Amino acid sequence: MPHVVREDGSLNDAAIALLHAVSSVDAELIRAARIRPSRSNWLRVPWYRYHRGGAITVGRTIWFTRLWWQRDGRGDGSPASTWYWLLLLAHEVGHLPQAKRYGLNIVGKARYVAAFAWQYGSRAVLLKKDVHDGANLEREAELGRWVLMHLLGPQAAVHPMVAAVAADDLQAVKEWCKIQERVIVKAQVAYRERFLFR
Ligand SMILES: [Zn+2]
Repeated sequence: MPHVVREDGSLNDAAIALLHAVSSVDAELIRAARIRPSRSNWLRVPWYRYHRGGAITVGRTIWFTRLWWQRDGRGDGSPASTWYWLLLLAHEVGHLPQAKRYGLNIVGKARYVAAFAWQYGSRAVLLKKDVHDGANLEREAELGRWVLMHLLGPQAAVHPMVAAVAADDLQAVKEWCKIQERVIVKAQVAYRERFLFR
C-alpha cells in the first residue's frame, strides 16, 4: 500500500492538506475520494489511452493502474514513489469537482465520460495531437499538479514535504502550506492566466 493511501482507500490527512492547498479543491471532497487499483477493463475505455500517467477519476473514485501498487513499481514506498503519487493525485483531484458538477448518479457519470469522449474526439479530428492536454476539463484539472511542481521544484523527491506526507505529519504540512500561501496563490493565478482563458 502506498504511503499516502489508507486501508479503506482514503488519503492520509497530510496528503489531503497538501493537495487541497495546491489545487484549491475542497478538502472534504478530497477526503471523500477513494483510491482504488484499476481493473484491466478500464484500459478498454477508448479515451483511457489518452490519459497519460495511469490514473482516472470517475465520480468519487480515483483508479490507479497496477504499476502504482506494485512493490517493484510505484508502490515501493520510496520517497520518489510518494512524490509520483502526489503529482498524479494533484491532477486527479482536479477532476473531483468536475465529476460533482456533472452529478454523481449514473446519468451524471455518463455525461461526464461523454464530455471527455466528445472533447477528445473533436480535438483529435482538428489537431490529431495534443488530444489529452488540449481538452478543457484536463487543463482545468491540471492546475494542482502544475502548482505542486512549481512549489517543490526539481529536487522534489527529497523535499521535506514529501517525507512529511509519507509520515502523515499533518502539522508540518499545514505550517508549510501557510508559509507558502502567497507563493501558491501566485502560481495558481499564473496558471489560470496562461492556460484557462475562456
Ligand atoms: Zn485528467
